[in-house]
This record gives sequence, structure tokens and C-alpha cells, in this order.
Amino acid sequence: MSDPVLLTPGPLTTSAETKAAMLRDWGSWDKAFNELTASVCADLVEIAHARESHVCVPLQGSGTFAVEAALGTLVPRDGKVLVPTNGAYCERITRILDYLHRKVVVLDFRENEVADPARIEAALAADPGITHVAQVHCETGTGILNPLPDIAAAVSRQGRRLIVDAMSSFGVMPIDARTMPFDAVIAASGKCLEGVPGMGFVIAERNALKDAAGNSHSLALDLHDQWSYFSKTGQWRFTPPTHVVSALRAALDQYHAEGAQPARLLRYRKNYSMLIGGMRDLGLRTFLNDSVQSPIIVTFHAPTDPAYRFGELYERVRERGFILYPGKLTRTETFRVGCIGAIEPSILRRAVEAIEAALVQMGVRVPCLAP
Ligand SMILES: *Cc1c(COP(=O)(O)O)cnc(C)c1O
Repeated sequence: MSDPVLLTPGPLTTSAETKAAMLRDWGSWDKAFNELTASVCADLVEIAHARESHVCVPLQGSGTFAVEAALGTLVPRDGKVLVPTNGAYCERITRILDYLHRKVVVLDFRENEVADPARIEAALAADPGITHVAQVHCETGTGILNPLPDIAAAVSRQGRRLIVDAMSSFGVMPIDARTMPFDAVIAASGKCLEGVPGMGFVIAERNALKDAAGNSHSLALDLHDQWSYFSKTGQWRFTPPTHVVSALRAALDQYHAEGAQPARLLRYRKNYSMLIGGMRDLGLRTFLNDSVQSPIIVTFHAPTDPAYRFGELYERVRERGFILYPGKLTRTETFRVGCIGAIEPSILRRAVEAIEAALVQMGVRVPCLAP
């Protein structure tokens, strides 16, 4: 039987070419591998249109390692960070800042409402001690898309610095350093670029990074040290995730061949439309209004039918070849379905059919009654 399709926000389903790119061993000191890393970094900077102003610093580990590295390196020890919060990944940023002993101001929003640039601007105006804003672009916990360009403009008007967790949006939603000021945009290999997990990266403003020497509490997560070593040697500090870099090179080649950001967004939008159209026909409602929903991951209300159990739905849908994702909301029973990865709308159509068959088998009334 073939592997199940991952309808999750990373790891996600990768293409055969991307998997094949890992069938080779690379020496970390070898010129060929250093060139591979340099070419990947050059592409990543270019995706953010940041060649003039920013550098790409790759880092071993999952996305959270890169978020922690960026916050620990770019926020000075006496800095103070505003965290507009409308979901689990925003909360993770606050946890990281607590670990790092950086001062935090949480600006709370409801999980189904976007971070409001006007409220962010007012919070900054009211507290001149805030040095940075740490903003999640697409909050993967629900799938809500925060209005990043307007937030960046507000932060810049107030003369503060912006650090963006764009983990689940990078490469799909436009991010343009020429029109949108930021100190750092953080993402990873195994999300919308459709590589495999294992490498994060930070698109960091050159001067902000230069000024950040000595801030980091951690050797392994010191982005400034990582970057200086790259600049001097062309090599990674410490063992690089060679196969991950090679897979990301292949994934980037496919990204460009597909038509880069606009084409990827279009494909994900088609996946998303197929998914929510089919799910609505089954009576399943989305947690978010369409106007704030990203085409990256969708949160659905669980059916209210007493026969429904997420664990059982998961197993029955998995038997049919698809992996769903649990909800991440504390107050509402939900589950999530990703639209990203090397998948086409026809796969989402089959996934909806599998969900329908699983619900019927469980004895859940379909179409489901709205909660
Ligand atoms: C995936 C993701 C991360 C990183 O999570 P890891 O489990 O460390 O890969 C961070 N922020 C957002 C918004 C994400 O979607």
C-alpha cells in the first residue's frame, strides 16, 4: 500500500523528486555541499525580495529552534517584546521569551479574529519601552491569516522592530522586504516550500544581525555566530542536515518550475476551495469566517452527533489513505485539515469522500447538524 497523504501542516506530503534528492550522502566540508547551501540560501532570500537588505541564516532543527534563535539573538537582553496573540503559536513565542527572560507584553485577540494593526499601534504608542513586535503571520493553530503588511507599517511608524514567524506562510503568502520593513522573517524547510523537516531559516536584516553579537544566551541557537561562521567559511557550524538541504534544493527547483509564490498560492487556494466546498456539503462548518481564513490549514467544528470521536475518525480516514490533524483549541471541539504539500485538488476531493465514508461508518448522521 502506498504511504498515506499527509493533510497536516508539516511534515507534509512531498514529491517523488524531493524524496529522491535524499538518496545521496554529502560531506559537510565538501565544496559541492557548501555550494548547495549557498544556492538554497540565495533562493530563500530572493523569495522575500530581500537580497539588498537581508541575509538568510539557516539553522538545524525544527521551526521552533529557528524562532527561539531569532528571538534570543535579535532581542537584546533588556529588550521588551509585544506579542499580538490569537492562537497557539503566538503563545509559544511568549513561552520562549519567558525562557529567555525577555520582557513580554501580550496583546490578546480572540482566536477567530485577526491581530488588529490599529490596536498594535496604540499599544506601542502607549508603551515606549517596547522595542520589538513578534508577530505570527498565519496562525497555524486555527489557520487565521494576520494582516502582516498593515502590522509591519504600524510597527515601522512607531519606530519599533518586527520579528515575523512566517513558518506556515513563507513561499505562499507574499512577503516583500522592499515594501515591508522587518528585522526577521522565520520559516522552515518542511512547510509550504514542500521540503522535508529538519532545517529552519531566518531572513535577517543585515544591520540588525550585525548589532546582535553577544545577545544570545545559547551557543547552538546563536544566529549571529552561525552567520559569521558561514560568512567566513561557507560552512555550517556543527553537523548540517545534509539530506534536508539537498531535498530543499530539489523542492525549490520544483517551486520555481511551478511558477513560484503566485502559482503555489493558486494551487493551495484550489485545494482549499475543494476542501471547504466538500466539507460544507457534509454539513461541517469552518471555525473561521472565510474573510480571515488562510488557504493553508482549515479548522472545522466537530460534528455534535454523540457517535463522533476524533480518534475514531482519524483511524478510519487513515485506513482510506489520509492523515488528519487534531484541533488545537481549548474551548471548542475541532479538527484541522491542511491544504499544503505536494497535493492537488483531486486529492482533497478524495479526502472529503474518505471523511464522509468514515463518518457514515461511525454512525454519525450525514449531513451533520451544525453545532
Ligand atoms: C510549524 C510552525 C512552527 C514550528 O513548529 P515546529 O514543530 O517546531 O516545526 C512555528 N510557528 C508556526 C506558525 C508554525 O506553523
